[in-house]
Parts: sequence; C-alpha cells; structure tokens
Amino acid sequence: MTSTTTSNKVDGGHPPAKRFKPTYSGTITILAGTGETLFEVHKDIICKHSDFFVASCSKAWAEGKEGTVKLPTVESATVKLYIHWAYTGNINLDVLDYGPGLASNYGQTAQLFRLYIAADMFLDRIMKNKAMDTILQRMNKRTFAVDWHSANLVWDNTTGDSPLRSAILHWSAATTTRDGFSKAVLSLRPAFVIDLAGTLLDLKGEAAFAKYPTYERRSQYHDHGVDNVKCSEKCSTQMT
Ligand SMILES: [Zn+2]
Repeated sequence: MTSTTTSNKVDGGHPPAKRFKPTYSGTITILAGTGETLFEVHKDIICKHSDFFVASCSKAWAEGKEGTVKLPTVESATVKLYIHWAYTGNINLDVLDYGPGLASNYGQTAQLFRLYIAADMFLDRIMKNKAMDTILQRMNKRTFAVDWHSANLVWDNTTGDSPLRSAILHWSAATTTRDGFSKAVLSLRPAFVIDLAGTLLDLKGEAAFAKYPTYERRSQYHDHGVDNVKCSEKCSTQMT
C-alpha cells in the first residue's frame, strides 16, 4: 500500500483562501459590559437561538479573532440570564446575585426590561416573547412596578412599534395616579408622555383598566415576525 501525504496547501503552493465555515462546534467567549466579564458558552447552543451570535461568530472568525464576542452595551447580569435561557429555556432571576438593585419589584422589572432589550438585539424573537410572558405574569400577580428610569430605558432602546412599549403604556394607563405622574413627569422622556396621552385619548370613554395587560392577552404583546403568524405554544418555547 502506498501512502500519500496530505497537505493544507492547494496546487501551486498557496494556502487556500480563508472562508467562513459554518460549524458551530466548540465554545466562544463573551466579554460582557464595559468591565468585560467573561462567559464561555457552547457555540451550537447560543447560535441555535440567535442570528446575532451567528453573525458575530462569523465576523470574529473573519477578523482572525475566532472565539471572542464583545458586548460592551450589555451588562453581565443580562448576559448571564440570556445564557441561562439558551441552555434551559427558562428565565430565572435567581441565577443572579441579589444585590440591592434586584431586591424590589422595580429592580426586577428593570432587569427584565434589560433582558427583553438584549433579546431584541440578539434577534431572538422567542426569548423576547418569553420575557414578555414573564412580565405579563408579574402584571397578573401585581408584582410589576415601573419607575421612570426603567420607562426611559425602554423608550431609549426600542422602536415605536415595540410590544414592550404597548404593554407598559396599557399598564400605565390603568394604574398611574395623578400624584405619581406629576412627580415623575419632568424626568420622563417626552416621547413616553406623548405616547401615554395618546393611549388615554384612544380610550374614548372606555375604562382604562379594560386594557390592563395580562398573560391571557399575551398574543397582542408578542412579536410574531414578518409573517405575523398566529400565536402558538412555540411563541415563547424554545425548540430542542
Ligand atoms: Zn404569540
């Protein structure tokens, strides 16, 4: 038997052109936030849920930095929640260290908003809907509370058609008191105030509480994609 020598080089002695091969084996390193907190995740898991990570892995590979994705605008707690979702299909704030920021309903709401915004950035529609379901369940249980910081966060990081904006507006129209609104109004983004006024005007005599967002009405707060497919169990359940 004769043996042949294999070579990475093509005829003519030149190495083959660098081309992205879409294999998702191995791990990638995520550097989260300005502090660059390091997370190591399986590429196949994270890329299954997120076209953002597919593109990021491809870009990093092309730049010769295969295996590292920097997310300076996403805090480490949010990345931790996202990775937990990618591996388990669940949102669980208990995986975070409960500092003073997460002790209150306000803090927990803010963290869920940050997760929703990150899911939007990661192009993970199922995660967005799952985060929305979690928010709606908290509205059901009356453990949902929004301060003006969190409202501004959403208005600064979403577009006008965001379902998260709709849910907050419907909730605010049903629950905000004149006193509470007067205290917060000067700190709120003008766009939020205008949107809230529009929501209240659109009621045209209907009781504001009739629009209170609930888990049972989750269909109207889901992102169903460009085809706007019917709400289904798959809306917020990851496929395994
Ligand atoms: Zn749905």
